[in-house]
Amino acid sequence: MAERKPSDRLAILAYHSIDETGSVVSVSPRRFADHMNAIAEADFRAVTLADAEEHRASSGKWPDRAVVITFDDAFSNVHELALPVLQEHGFTATVFVINDYIDSANEWERSPPGLGRQTTMNEAQLAALATEGWEIGAHTKTHPDLRELSDAQLEEQIVGSRTDLEQRLGRSVESFAYPYGMFDQRAERIAADHYRAACTTRLQRAGSDTRSRLPRIDTYYVRDQAMMRRLLLGQLDGYLTIRRWARAIRPTKRREPISD
Ligand SMILES: [Zn+2]
Repeated sequence: MAERKPSDRLAILAYHSIDETGSVVSVSPRRFADHMNAIAEADFRAVTLADAEEHRASSGKWPDRAVVITFDDAFSNVHELALPVLQEHGFTATVFVINDYIDSANEWERSPPGLGRQTTMNEAQLAALATEGWEIGAHTKTHPDLRELSDAQLEEQIVGSRTDLEQRLGRSVESFAYPYGMFDQRAERIAADHYRAACTTRLQRAGSDTRSRLPRIDTYYVRDQAMMRRLLLGQLDGYLTIRRWARAIRPTKRREPISD
C-alpha cells in the first residue's frame, strides 16, 4: 500500500483546558508537554490555522511537516501553562474565544461535568498571545448550539463575534470554531462567507475537506508522546476511524456530540 506523503493531510489538534481534573476536555500539563515534545522530535512545526489554509489555497496542498494546534474556549490555563511550553519549542497556535466569556469562567450551558470552574483569559492575555504570533479566532458570543438559532441570531453569533473581537483586539479574525462542533447548512454558509477557515470536531486529519468544515483531532484520544508521533506520521488514521464510529454509536457521554 502506497504511503501518503505527510502534506496530503494535516493534523489540526483540538485542546480545551490544560488541567489535572481528568475531564473530557482536559489534558494534563504533563501530557501536553509530551505532545509538544513529540511534535518537535518528529521535526514538525506548528502553524496557525489561517496560515495553513492560506498555504493550501495558494499552493493546493497543506504545508509540509506542519501541525495546527488549536485551543477552544480561551481558558486562562492556556496562557499560564501552554504558552511557556509553546515558546520553548518556537510553536504558535490558534485560540478560539467566546466573546461574552472573556475575563470570566466556563459558565456557559453544557460545560462538561468534572471540569469544575475554570477561568478564561482577559483581553490583555489574549493580546499577549497575539503578540507571540498566535492567531485569535472566534467561537461565537455565547457558545450556543448553532442549529437551534434563528437566522438573525446566527448572524450575530458568527459574524458579530468576529466584528467584536476585531474591535477589542485591533487585529483581523480569520478562523472560526463551531461550538460543540455542531452546525447546519445556514451556519456553514455564514462561516464560509466571513472566515478563511472553520473547524468542526470530526475526528480525522484534514485532507481535501472544504475550508468551512475542517476536521480536528480531539487530543483526548492522544494518550502519550508515541501516539502523537504516530498521528503526525499518518499511522493513526485507522484508529481514528474506529473511534469516530464508536462516537457515532455511543455519543451520550461525550460533551461534543458529532455533527457528521
Ligand atoms: Zn467550545
